[in-house]
Amino acid sequence: MRIVFIGPPGAGKGTQSARLVAHLGIPHISTGEVLRAAREEGSELGMAVAEYLNDGRLVPDATIMKMVAQRLSQPDCADGWLLDGCPRTISQAETLLESLAEHGEALDLVLELKVDEEELYRRLLLRRRSDDSPETVRGRLRVFLAQTAPVLEFFRERGTLVSIVGTGTPDDVFARIKTALDRVRARSENAP
Ligand code: AMP
Repeated sequence: MRIVFIGPPGAGKGTQSARLVAHLGIPHISTGEVLRAAREEGSELGMAVAEYLNDGRLVPDATIMKMVAQRLSQPDCADGWLLDGCPRTISQAETLLESLAEHGEALDLVLELKVDEEELYRRLLLRRRSDDSPETVRGRLRVFLAQTAPVLEFFRERGTLVSIVGTGTPDDVFARIKTALDRVRARSENAP
């Protein structure tokens, strides 16, 4: 299964992605984590992206997609992966689909973990860093929602998007994710 996982801060994506990769036995690839690890190592990539990471700005599309293509071509990704934190722009989404198509592959599923803005705001306020004001938290959330909206729309138009309600217990949410996986599996088994 090749899955893209999209969810705003506070939606429980960390918990659910850990469960999902364990369930499917696929690697979890978080672009934010790969970038932070590169920065710590001081590799060429790390030095090129440090400034963006420090400022919280998006790393240029070409840099991200080169890194993602390299990671997805590793042997542990042969039977699938869960991509987290990417694509963040339409251009990244297009490049991802093109590079998969070049290898005769396709995305099976884009999972959106959905929690309404007020609930996210409440959860983020509870876990905020002491230097974050409620306005900063609200601002960060708004930026995320505005940034991802076009990407979600891109996948919705292509029929790969499934939105999962992120409220309830972690077990409730994971049960919904498994139902979505079963549907996708059934659909691909019935495909000609
Ligand atoms: P995250 O942990 O996903 O919030 O990512 C942390 C930082 O890494 C972001 O603020 C960006 O600077 C960078 N980053 C991660 N993924 C991407 C991406 N797909 N496109 C551009 N920048 C990214």
